[in-house]
Amino acid sequence: MTAKKILIVGGGTAGWMTALIMARAWLKQGFEIRLIESPEVGIIGVGEGSTPALKQFFDKLGIAESEWMPECNATYKSGIRFDHWSTKPNCETYFHPFASSLDPHTLPLFMRNAHARVRGLDVYAHPDRFFLTAKLAEKNLAPKAHYNFPFEALYGYHFDAVLLGQFLKKKAIAMGVGFSQGHVQDVLLDEVGDITAVVTKDGEHLAADFFVDCTGFRSLLLRDKLKTPFKSFRNNLFNDAAVAMPTEIGAEIPSCTISTALKNGWAWKIPLTNRYGNGYVYSSDFCSADDAEFELRERLGLLDADIPVRHLKMVVGQVTQHWNRNCLAVGLSQGFIEPLEATALFLVQQTAAIFTELYERGNFTAQERDTFNARITGYFEGTRDYIVTHYKTSTRNDTEYWRANIKDQTDVSDTMKILYEAWMSGKDMQQEVTRLAIENYYAAPSWVCLLAGMGIFPSEKRLRKATEADITFSLGQLDDFLTRSALNFDDHRQYLEQKL
Ligand SMILES: Cc1cc2nc3c(=O)[nH]c(=O)nc-3n(C[C@H](O)[C@H](O)[C@H](O)COP(=O)(O)OP(=O)(O)OC[C@H]3O[C@@H](n4cnc5c(N)ncnc54)[C@H](O)[C@@H]3O)c2cc1C
Repeated sequence: MTAKKILIVGGGTAGWMTALIMARAWLKQGFEIRLIESPEVGIIGVGEGSTPALKQFFDKLGIAESEWMPECNATYKSGIRFDHWSTKPNCETYFHPFASSLDPHTLPLFMRNAHARVRGLDVYAHPDRFFLTAKLAEKNLAPKAHYNFPFEALYGYHFDAVLLGQFLKKKAIAMGVGFSQGHVQDVLLDEVGDITAVVTKDGEHLAADFFVDCTGFRSLLLRDKLKTPFKSFRNNLFNDAAVAMPTEIGAEIPSCTISTALKNGWAWKIPLTNRYGNGYVYSSDFCSADDAEFELRERLGLLDADIPVRHLKMVVGQVTQHWNRNCLAVGLSQGFIEPLEATALFLVQQTAAIFTELYERGNFTAQERDTFNARITGYFEGTRDYIVTHYKTSTRNDTEYWRANIKDQTDVSDTMKILYEAWMSGKDMQQEVTRLAIENYYAAPSWVCLLAGMGIFPSEKRLRKATEADITFSLGQLDDFLTRSALNFDDHRQYLEQKL
């Protein structure tokens, strides 16, 4: 393959992650990779939670946790706790766990009971007692097993988004990515409509063979210049704004994110080593920025406190082509799904990694571009469906916002309808998820945790009493098994302070 000149426009997390993924693949092949960022436009600076995929990103680059985590005030994440999304008895809270290699011993029990319950049998089917990572989070333990425990837990991270950006920048520059500052104010096209160069305010022309748009919600190249259409998700995801503020971290450092449903959206609580990141994601159709800030402050007991508060707007949806002509959009410029499952960096990683693999294989054809776009669109839609299901299955009706969420979501995808109907009719969810080919987005256990955790079962009155033959295991023994397994993990704070 001949050497190529790649220009990445935008130095937020998306820009630097893409730079590192491309640098690892291509610098040794003689590619030139350069990133330009505006000195006038800052980065979004929020986004403090990840999925387990972020570990693979660092592992592939050979960057140890002991190197990046302390620099970014990072902590471990075993999953997400959802509070007050459901009003059903015993479902006011549930945990969406990350997987562990102990799951083969406990997951089948959960799946069996959840399916039996939806088919009308009165057996215990709340997810929280079935997963090792839920137990680790409950006890504020780091998801890092002692060396002699033969099982491991998958985990994500919490981190300071600004510090992570700085860390990635340092690494990319050290690897050989070129960097300059300049505010792009024009994008030049050739006669067929491909991008030839960007022009900065200072009049500098930066030419390249291929451009990566990482300019955040502005999407200067892909949407603004190439006029790539955008498909909004507002029909199903009403939230379009957020307010964020830090609070002090206590003696314990939890190893999970907490997401609490509020009057007009939900609040995140993310533990870092030096503070909590808090934020309220809400819909401006139902609530003003001032009201959202008041509700969040009140909840945090900070009504009169003088603390830094940030208000943000969000554009929810995705472009119809993530790669159009000689331009790829990565990050907020390609789309965004509200941060309920902290999936944005996962989508950045997937987009950059899949694109890089394709490029490696050479022979760029329109067909390959279409296949790539369909694949990334699938990731966005699969993630959206999972997130929309949180709202669709909520039983809150205390405000106009929640009533609208239940009533006005008319545009749900066929996949979501099929999956929901499959659940309600007691079909095997593993088979359905496999049949619909959506396990790359969310696997069957995640769907079942969500539906069972929200209490989407026949009414208690219609349940048949379980007989002795229906009860295939002892809950007490399961609790004991997970409690004993959790003894092989350290206190989260202690681990962060002593082992990193
Ligand atoms: C409320 C909220 C919560 C979130 N929570 C999470 C989370 O928990 N987990 C998660 O994974 N993600 C989360 N995200 C998303 C996450 O913040 C972003 O995906 C991530 O930070 C990447 O942003 P970005 O790099 O695409 O854009 P930005 O950070 O906005 O960076 C844009 C870059 O483009 C540059 N730029 C802009 N205009 C120009 C120009 N004219 N010339 C040159 N350069 C220019 C800027 O200088 C900047 O460097 C959240 C987002 C929001 C809004």
